[in-house]
Amino acid sequence: MHYKRLIFILIDGAPYEIFKSLVENGDLPNIKKHVADQGCLKKAISVFPSTTGPALIPHFMGVYPGTVNIPGNQWLSKSHYYHPYRFKRPGVCNYLGIDKSYFEEDLPPDMPTLFHYFSPASNIYIRITRGCPPAGNLTRGIKPLMFAYGYLSNHWRYIDQVAGDRLYKAVEAGDNFVACIFPTVDALSHSITTQAPRIIQLYREIDARVGDIVHILQKTNTLEETLILITSDHGMSNTHTHIDIPQHLDDGGWRCVHYPNVWKQFVEAASMVSGNGMSHLYFKNSHNGRGWGEPMTFEQLHKMGVVSSLIELEGLRFVAGQSETGNIIVQNKNGQGIISWHSEEANNNSSPSITTTNECSDSLRFSYKFTGTDPLGYGVSYENLSSTEALQLTYDSPSPDGIVQLWQIFKSDRTGDLVLNAESGYDLRSRYKIMDHRASHGGLIPEHLYIPLASNHPLDERYIRSVDIFPTVLNLCGHTIDHAYRIDGRIVK
Ligand SMILES: [Zn+2]
Repeated sequence: MHYKRLIFILIDGAPYEIFKSLVENGDLPNIKKHVADQGCLKKAISVFPSTTGPALIPHFMGVYPGTVNIPGNQWLSKSHYYHPYRFKRPGVCNYLGIDKSYFEEDLPPDMPTLFHYFSPASNIYIRITRGCPPAGNLTRGIKPLMFAYGYLSNHWRYIDQVAGDRLYKAVEAGDNFVACIFPTVDALSHSITTQAPRIIQLYREIDARVGDIVHILQKTNTLEETLILITSDHGMSNTHTHIDIPQHLDDGGWRCVHYPNVWKQFVEAASMVSGNGMSHLYFKNSHNGRGWGEPMTFEQLHKMGVVSSLIELEGLRFVAGQSETGNIIVQNKNGQGIISWHSEEANNNSSPSITTTNECSDSLRFSYKFTGTDPLGYGVSYENLSSTEALQLTYDSPSPDGIVQLWQIFKSDRTGDLVLNAESGYDLRSRYKIMDHRASHGGLIPEHLYIPLASNHPLDERYIRSVDIFPTVLNLCGHTIDHAYRIDGRIVK
């Protein structure tokens, strides 16, 4: 049997462990009774960087952020970067600010989203709207106002109430696909931490909304034919210490540009953060013309003293970069890890693995080795793993799916020369951020990567990535994926 309808609810920034304990403690009785107990509640894995925007691409399109060249909410393109000026895109981007409207434009033009497969469909607050007819965009026009109101007043709860009202109306209207994100758990956790009583209350209010929509479905006798999915785009962790990377680079002699101060002159480096738990660092490699030249290798940056200066910082978990052979090097002060890969067809596994955006993880074999103390925390070396084996073997580790996640982010030519990850409790925000941040995400750590996946359809598979959600729900709803698009996800049963 295939489901006729899909109700897809996202709780922005809901970490798996918090969601699971609320379900188990009876705080979310509707989600427990009508969703988890009917099907399952799984621990799924988000992507690196684990931040809204890039981390929604997998759910709606089945691909990694690196595959579609959107490696963060902020990035710099070395070949296009020149000093920002008013009328053209300057090769530096902040999707959470002035470049908001480019997010969808920057996605590959013909790639379908979940919205293309269902009609009528409606979208509530989701940043990916492609494929949803304008009339189905139930928060179009009000979304920017709502978010501005949330930031200015901190009255985020109202934003979720609007989402709940629109969700109810769309389900009542009988839409075949309703996608809704509740933004407030993320937005408010940043300022008051992830388990503050006001945050827990938000989960309860979402649960009540789930009760309301199940009631409509029961009344119209359509519950059986409806697939209900509740998940999040990324987790979060509480933050006690900010590491000011731009200041550190300035002090080291690499004058650093960063948001919101992108008009800073005579710069040699750039720091582009996502979720504050990770950052892309770029270093100027050209002193002629407008571009910043070619990407710099890990070895070059090591020689310049950048790597050794960064790894001394307390709270910095690791620095990753691409070596001159194309491998990914992960370094912290206690050890070094090397991720390499080769295509299954090639039998020489020492061949250089230069990344291209067309590479698909299915056809690759991954290896990982380390010296000193393993910076990814696996403590074992791996050889010739398929993407699925790499997921399974690292699922319950300090860097879940870290091998494939680092591979995918470095596929993007907008990824930094170095990618930084902060330890839990620390973030990489710059001194100019106005709001105090007491929680962060973006990183490659369990608290940021584990997301709940509750479904009223049982899934037996234990190892699930967020890229698998797209093909899996399409399969459950009887749709076949257009094979013109090579996606990263697989159908899980
Ligand atoms: Zn956030």
